Amino acid sequence: MSKKIYLYGNWKMNMTAAETKKFFDEFAGVYKPASDLEVGVFSPFTSLWALAEGAKKCGVVFGAQNAYYEAKGAFTGEVSIPMLAEIGVTHVILGHSERRHIFGEPDEMIAKKVKAVLDAGMIPVLCYGETLEEREGGNTFKVMERQLKSALEGLKPEEVAKIIYAYEPVWAIGTGKSATSEQAQEVCEWSRKLIGDPKVVILYGGSVKGSNAKELLSMKDIDGALVGGASLKPGSFLEIYTAYKN
Ligand code: PEP
Repeated sequence: MSKKIYLYGNWKMNMTAAETKKFFDEFAGVYKPASDLEVGVFSPFTSLWALAEGAKKCGVVFGAQNAYYEAKGAFTGEVSIPMLAEIGVTHVILGHSERRHIFGEPDEMIAKKVKAVLDAGMIPVLCYGETLEEREGGNTFKVMERQLKSALEGLKPEEVAKIIYAYEPVWAIGTGKSATSEQAQEVCEWSRKLIGDPKVVILYGGSVKGSNAKELLSMKDIDGALVGGASLKPGSFLEIYTAYKN
């Protein structure tokens, strides 16, 4: 049996509610569910209501791109995990490099968010990865070990197993320059050992598209893709799975 492929779309700060509705009108016409495919979409907060409808109609995972770890209170501008749970969100991206590097989220904050999402019975999609400077300085594994160990510290093995991991080299995100399949495989294999659970789901993210999907997704330790740019159109998003299968 072929492995199950996770195809998760991170829309970042794109797609209004109206655009989300339009996306799913088109998506519903072209998407063919398959037993070895799990599709997920992670929209901005303001589009989550429209995403809820589309995700339910098409049977795709309903996700948010961030959440704060406190349940409520004086945290202007933040959205809590119970607020997301109330509208049916099941998965939350945490630790994306844009949160780490543009908004300065430290490892400790990401760890608290991971724990809070797990405590709410939801699934964190935990992103980690090195910058170009860190890779060129020979620090790739040191940086990722810090990121992963701090996020997993104190978690029970069954919690570690529930997390979906996404290796995203910062230099490959939104640049059009993907990691090679060997580079991505090397890190995903190493990650699986560090995490200590051979069965965890590990995605690769960074300029994944139809033209590089087959070689990346065919690698032994890569279970799927976290996709930015190519997830904004149903055609280019689903092409990643069809390219892998053909
Ligand atoms: C991302 O934002 O997680 C991502 C991988 O973006 P892109 O596919 O555009 O590189």
